[in-house]
Amino acid sequence: MNILIVDDETDVEILFRQKFRKEIKKGEISLSFAFSGQEALDFLEQENPPQVVYVFSDINMPGMTGLELLKKLRNVFHKSMSA
Ligand SMILES: [Mg+2]
Repeated sequence: MNILIVDDETDVEILFRQKFRKEIKKGEISLSFAFSGQEALDFLEQENPPQVVYVFSDINMPGMTGLELLKKLRNVFHKSMSA
């Protein structure tokens, strides 16, 4: 299960990788990171077939906010999203 985490603070990658160290090692989950809304969209659009099951996003980010990202995700991936 691949999870995409979106946050403009790059430190979150280290924190998440530490927190889920065991699950990652066992292959239960894999984590992907994007550090802006645009980076998240680019990442998801290039995935074929899509691998990401969950997207967790910060709200306050420079450029595209988390809420704007959510709106765009709904437009681009509306067929597979019910949010
Ligand atoms: Mg932030």
